[in-house]
Amino acid sequence: MKNIVLYGAPGAGKGTQASLLAEKFNLVHLSTGEMLRAEVAQGSPLGLRVKAIMERGDLVGDEVVLSLIDKALTANLTGEPLDEWDTHRRQRAIDEGRPVAERIVPSIIFDGFPRTVQQAQMLEFVFSRRRMKLDAVISIDVNRDELIRRIHERAAISNRADDNEATIRHRLEEYEEKTRPVLDYYKVSGLLISIDGGGEISETNTRLSTLMEHILAD
Ligand code: ADP
Repeated sequence: MKNIVLYGAPGAGKGTQASLLAEKFNLVHLSTGEMLRAEVAQGSPLGLRVKAIMERGDLVGDEVVLSLIDKALTANLTGEPLDEWDTHRRQRAIDEGRPVAERIVPSIIFDGFPRTVQQAQMLEFVFSRRRMKLDAVISIDVNRDELIRRIHERAAISNRADDNEATIRHRLEEYEEKTRPVLDYYKVSGLLISIDGGGEISETNTRLSTLMEHILAD
């Protein structure tokens, strides 16, 4: 089992590539953007809290995102709980580091997370509690002009509320200020691998697939 973070600016193609890799290598794909959009679509209390934040292109609070990741890890690493007591028993086993019955251990690809240094540190804490570790961080590098071109192209066809002119600019500012430092954080840890993502979807996918084969076989 491997845990891989797919890193990239808005428009770098993280979501597209993470989906392709998940299908090809049978990975669990955890996208915080998708999880948040699902909460908004359901109109859950959390969704109501984050809707306006996302529409402005601001980052959602670290605690909120971490709670979603933690919930998704529990669901994916222990299987769907049977009832409330099952959830309770399984959570206790995880907290106490005991093996959980019939535990399926898939490899996971994280998409759009961690997006701040604080989230990266929180992920380490969550992992250590679950006796997990991060195996690789893959950065999809795309230059700024190409990023802007792609987001506008997507905006023309998507119905995402945050794909409009003002919000796109703000998302890129948020990225520069809060997310780029995550790269340095992982560079120091020796986990970072960068690939060129400026070409076609299929070219980037070929590069990533070769890399994944190595990471998963290791
Ligand atoms: P993109 O990378 O194309 O902007 P995402 O789907 O990853 O798209 O994210 C959409 C929005 O969801 C972000 O602008 C932000 O408001 C919120 N979001 C997603 N992931 C995170 C995260 N890890 N931390 C904080 N906010 C997040």
